[in-house]
Amino acid sequence: MRVFNFSAGPSMLPLEVLKRVQAKLLDYEGCGMSVAELSHRGKVYEEINAETEALMRELMHVPANYDIIFIQGGASLQFAAIPLNIRINKKADYVVSGNWASNALKEAQNIGKHYGCDYKAIASSEDKVFSYVPKITKSMIRPDADYLHICQNNTIFGTRYNYIPDAGNVPIVNDMSSCILSEDYDVSKYGVIYAGAQKNLAPAGVTVVIVRKDLQDKFAPECPTMLKWKTQVDQKSLYNTPPSLSTYMAMEVMRYVKELGGIKAMQKHNEEKAALLYNFLDSSKFYRNPVNKEDRSLMNITFVSPSSELDDKFVKESEKAGLMFLKGHKLVGGMRASIYNAMPIEGVKALIEFMKKFELANK
Ligand code: PMP
Repeated sequence: MRVFNFSAGPSMLPLEVLKRVQAKLLDYEGCGMSVAELSHRGKVYEEINAETEALMRELMHVPANYDIIFIQGGASLQFAAIPLNIRINKKADYVVSGNWASNALKEAQNIGKHYGCDYKAIASSEDKVFSYVPKITKSMIRPDADYLHICQNNTIFGTRYNYIPDAGNVPIVNDMSSCILSEDYDVSKYGVIYAGAQKNLAPAGVTVVIVRKDLQDKFAPECPTMLKWKTQVDQKSLYNTPPSLSTYMAMEVMRYVKELGGIKAMQKHNEEKAALLYNFLDSSKFYRNPVNKEDRSLMNITFVSPSSELDDKFVKESEKAGLMFLKGHKLVGGMRASIYNAMPIEGVKALIEFMKKFELANK
């Protein structure tokens, strides 16, 4: 029996995609072996690689002056790759809107301190436990900063940017790990977009980086070959052995997203699901969503009951009801429902029904 998996990642994949992958697992389209067993230097895998890239370009309307690479290391390795790939004036500005944004800054500082770089936070929402997204204006950004780093959706705290910061000529580097393919983004407003796949795109293992061409030759001399975006751009993501099975599954997920009507259809579906849960939370006297209303995430919805004891009980009992991984991140406690693209609306409805019953039994 399949459960509703509310995990922040790895998370649910569309059932239809899992079935398609299953059907081709032993013999991929007549080649007599699984994609997991295919050489990445052969024609079959090269076609998968090319289609994955083409689908992402089409779905996200990625302009021609950007390249897309599918690599290993997760979003966390990009925290280090970013300051090593864009080194012009040795300074960059970060918006600390959550734990991952903070980790990105710390990693850059850890590298930059050896090379006289100045990486700093220009705004933070830590004062209110990251329950909002700071408003960034152009005057806050150093005009000679190499880049402005933001995190579009804050997975742990359940917030997201509801605006695109105006950074002037400073390129914006955007961590879209927990929201890629969930809403229609204007890629041309960003210099670099990166995301670990394990929420909306594929199983863990593949990381996507979308990088503007003019930002590919600004790397620091000490940038390792494997971290250099240009290495993988020049080799079409095949410089070394790629995470082939995850990349292939990203292709299957994106084929399916396209069939469903593309990102606009995903966004509509996600807005409906999120509205259902937020409306329920807003009308409740028992549960509460601690996040600034305007900055609410469509993907990760946090909530608390009247006490931490009841929160623990909620998590235990919800698992028995087939609603899995609702425990909030240890930094915030409470509950978190991650409702990525693959979560059907029935999952959200089942959660709300459970929440009503739990309230009745415990108020
Ligand atoms: N950024 C965000 C917004 C995330 O949600 C996560 C993972 N939950 C990461 C970065 C780290 O990603 P990875 O595990 O792929 O390194």
